Amino acid sequence: MEKTTLMRKTSLLFYFLILSNLLSAQNKVFEVYTDSSLLIKDNNALIADIENRVKALDSAFSFKGLKTVTDNSPGGFFLGKQNFIHHATWNLEEKFIGQLATEITQSNEKGKEFVGLFVHGFFLAHEIGHALQFHTHNWKKENLYENEYQASEIALLYWKDKGKKKELKKCYKLAKLAVSKLENPFPENVDKEKYFTEHYNEFLQNPKKYAYVMFSQIVKVFEDKSLTNFDDFIKTRLLQNKKTNR
Ligand SMILES: [Zn+2]
Repeated sequence: MEKTTLMRKTSLLFYFLILSNLLSAQNKVFEVYTDSSLLIKDNNALIADIENRVKALDSAFSFKGLKTVTDNSPGGFFLGKQNFIHHATWNLEEKFIGQLATEITQSNEKGKEFVGLFVHGFFLAHEIGHALQFHTHNWKKENLYENEYQASEIALLYWKDKGKKKELKKCYKLAKLAVSKLENPFPENVDKEKYFTEHYNEFLQNPKKYAYVMFSQIVKVFEDKSLTNFDDFIKTRLLQNKKTNR
């Protein structure tokens, strides 16, 4: 009797050890990814998790086979028609967003941490947020500024829900630092939503201008006390709109 209990305890401990090793090996979110297959796997798991969360609120919801892809180019983005999210590993981002992050933080090491926190953390959920907008018919081609803002609201609420408090705190601090270091690309007294939408390609081609928009929005999102939780937000801001659109 005693022997079996001990054995059971031992095997249970063994099982937990294996499980925790597996989890720590897989969980690289909010750190830089150097392995593209791991990045794809983890992002696909995030997609599945968010899809299940939304399905629980509306059983008809589906991402319709949304996939994660990587190729030899940097940048994170979602393409609606192709239904994929593109992400890139650190070796591709290092010279792209990595350089900008180093400039902002004034340190290679902190720049790398910046990329991990945002590109391989916060923005993973932000891109899935765009897919959510698309698949619930909430993508507004007439207001690209609002699309970006809302994707960051979704990202914040999702990660908060996942208990990433420590990581989010670092994101908030770094987003404020970024805004203080980057030049405001908007002319005075201009309607930001209209201006950003009309000059979207210009912003895309200038990472500093684009980054200013992202991080100034993120600071606002973090400071918005009216944001409640992920489920409420999805229900009231995305799923209800979907129904009126039908
Ligand atoms: Zn975006």
